[in-house]
Amino acid sequence: MSKQPKWDLIEGIVLDAVGTLIKPTPAVADAYTEAALRQGVVLDREDVRRRFQRTFRDDAIRADRGIHSTDEGIERRRWREIVAQVLPEVPDPERAFDELWDHFGRPESWRCFPDAVPALRAFHEAGMEVCIGSNFDGRLRQVVAGLPELAAMVDGLVVSSEVGFRKPHGSFFEAVCERLGLPPERILSVGDDLENDVYGAIRAGLSAVYLDRGHEVPEDVMHVSTLTLVVELRAAEA
Ligand SMILES: [Mg+2]
Repeated sequence: MSKQPKWDLIEGIVLDAVGTLIKPTPAVADAYTEAALRQGVVLDREDVRRRFQRTFRDDAIRADRGIHSTDEGIERRRWREIVAQVLPEVPDPERAFDELWDHFGRPESWRCFPDAVPALRAFHEAGMEVCIGSNFDGRLRQVVAGLPELAAMVDGLVVSSEVGFRKPHGSFFEAVCERLGLPPERILSVGDDLENDVYGAIRAGLSAVYLDRGHEVPEDVMHVSTLTLVVELRAAEA
């Protein structure tokens, strides 16, 4: 699993979105805390942060036990459930869900990581096809379109709710190959989730690099701490 990407083969890169190229700004915990406050419920931001982390992790574990099939309706129901679990105190849970669903669908609620655009530019200059591959839902299209510096740097989007399968399912990566017009061995996957972006990609025949933005890294995984270092890895090999 620790094998270096075979750079002379790589012609395309698929990058994860959330945590890799973009991050919610303000933070998720702030958005949820504010949504509760609009209904008169005062919550401790740190409690909300912990609740969200736990709920999101448990949800991911449940998804892993399934077959990873998804669509827009499933994603909407999934997020309604997450909001209800993170904010059980609010008198109108449907309102909280609607507000948060809209909030995270707006480009203004997201920022690019500082290394995202420079790295994407370098991949392009190296002649690579670049796409985003994400377990976000259809809202990602409007988010990316509203971040012009990012939109200008990607050749396409592969979104799980449109494909019908979430990462790490092999069908998701088949859709990536189709989008990039390349066989799996010519594609490098980069992302901040070990199972979804690295192990799943490798099982599907892609190369993969784990982006470690401050998490622990298993020894058997090729990893970098910024996207710019992926570019440098490649330059060092050339
Ligand atoms: Mg991610």
